[in-house]
Amino acid sequence: MAGNLYDALLGGTEGEDRLLLRDETVGTMSYGAFTEECARMAGALLEAGLQPGDRVAVQAEKSVAALALYLATVRAGGIYLPLNIAYTPAEIEYFLNDAEPAIFVCDPAKLPALAPIASAAGAKVLTLDAAGKGTLADAAAVARPITETSSRGGSDIAAILYTSGTTGRSKGAMLSHDNLLSNAHSLVESWRFTDKDVLIHALPIFHTHGLFVATNVVLASRASMIFQAKFDPNKIMEAMPQATCLMGVPTFYTRLLQHPGLDRQNTAHMRLFVSGSAPLLAETHREWQERTGHAILERYGMTETNMNTSNPYDGRRIAGTVGLPLPGVEVRVTDPETGALLRTEEIGMIEVRGPNVFQGYWRMPEKTAAEFREDGFFITGDLGKMDEDGYVHIVGRGKDLIITGGYNVYPKEVEMEIDAMPGVNESAVFGVRHPDFGEGIIAAVVLKPGTELTEQQVIKALNSRLAAYKRPKKVAFVPELPRNTMGKVQKNILRDQFAGTFE
Ligand code: ATP
Ligand code: MG
Repeated sequence: MAGNLYDALLGGTEGEDRLLLRDETVGTMSYGAFTEECARMAGALLEAGLQPGDRVAVQAEKSVAALALYLATVRAGGIYLPLNIAYTPAEIEYFLNDAEPAIFVCDPAKLPALAPIASAAGAKVLTLDAAGKGTLADAAAVARPITETSSRGGSDIAAILYTSGTTGRSKGAMLSHDNLLSNAHSLVESWRFTDKDVLIHALPIFHTHGLFVATNVVLASRASMIFQAKFDPNKIMEAMPQATCLMGVPTFYTRLLQHPGLDRQNTAHMRLFVSGSAPLLAETHREWQERTGHAILERYGMTETNMNTSNPYDGRRIAGTVGLPLPGVEVRVTDPETGALLRTEEIGMIEVRGPNVFQGYWRMPEKTAAEFREDGFFITGDLGKMDEDGYVHIVGRGKDLIITGGYNVYPKEVEMEIDAMPGVNESAVFGVRHPDFGEGIIAAVVLKPGTELTEQQVIKALNSRLAAYKRPKKVAFVPELPRNTMGKVQKNILRDQFAGTFE
């Protein structure tokens, strides 16, 4: 591989009538019309002064125009740098100072707050709203469309994506043209995407899942998508009879399960349901299969690496596992302290190597060096094991590991026991400072509506299931678990909230 990702994904589709997407704002759009919009937008970026390698930072609502901006930036030789729509001006200030973009695109409504910040960071500001209107769209309308894709090497950076910030400050992951393309090809192959597929796209497009996994797979297979501005269970239910595939975070599936219309008939046209970005409960997997007859395909990836593993399309999709390494991706499990290779079934640090693995953290050479082994494996920070059949199981993040009285406790093991209790909806297990044990274990538990359960009952039920050191010293019933926009449970918030419990 080599060259510009844009050409690999969209080259040759100029002028094509083939349907690319349906969207409430723009109606239907062909590949030809979309590439035309990309060419105009790329022209506008060049007229705004974009040079190869410049960053284009974007905080815009999800829209077809915002999607075109991603591909236009790449085609023009820039580096696409999307930012979470929820970030506050103070957060945006940090990211712009860190990334030093040449151009910053934001919602016109946020212009008064963000324009001074962007100018101070040296960026030219353009606007784009949820309907695809704004000064960028105006400039694109009169710009000279580019006809030549900027020539780029496969290892040049196509995008910088900031990690979700679940475990600390977000880091900018530099992804090359080849990183993104290799992953798109391997997912198309693994998930059997063809030009007959219709994907329901309801994920945000500032994160790897919606931006790269969903979009690049569609483009690389010449499939089409039903593009939805945000997750709305009713809209997904409406789209399913015309669609073939849904990609979602686990909360999509738990929310859809609450919809009375979800059944075999409504999902009969669908061939694939993919879940990722956070662990899917085994119970959700089972319930989904009972209701619809479809086994959700769970996969595992991260901003730094795109996708690493996936349950098989044809073979067994095993609930609670993230499946097998994708073609070209190597996965190994090592001792977190010594780095020594562990055996099957032994829990340790998950490491990955392959053409999907990023080029390093933006302006963090030391952090980058610390997260790579000498032989090129990337240390993911996730703990897990590989079973005898080669399936990868994730037990949690290294940073969430609890060490109590000198023993390691993997939160997932305790959570699975609690989640299996009648009346429990879900749980999060974490450690906070404890004067005697170093860390004491707390379980935050969400009950199903109408259930009554006491702390004593939960602890008693665990007595026969878990060794004493693994049992929570406190069970707190909470109305819901704190989650970020990608549906990830934010254990740091729980740890802060319960910090003084044992002191
Ligand atoms: P930060 O790195 O800033 O703390 P983050 O790791 O949440 O944030 P992302 O790159 O969006 O940022 O998320 C990747 C992480 O999501 C993985 O490292 C893993 O912990 C988790 N993850 C993704 N898919 C799955 C899955 N199927 N099961 C369990 N965990 C998953
Ligand atoms: Mg991470």
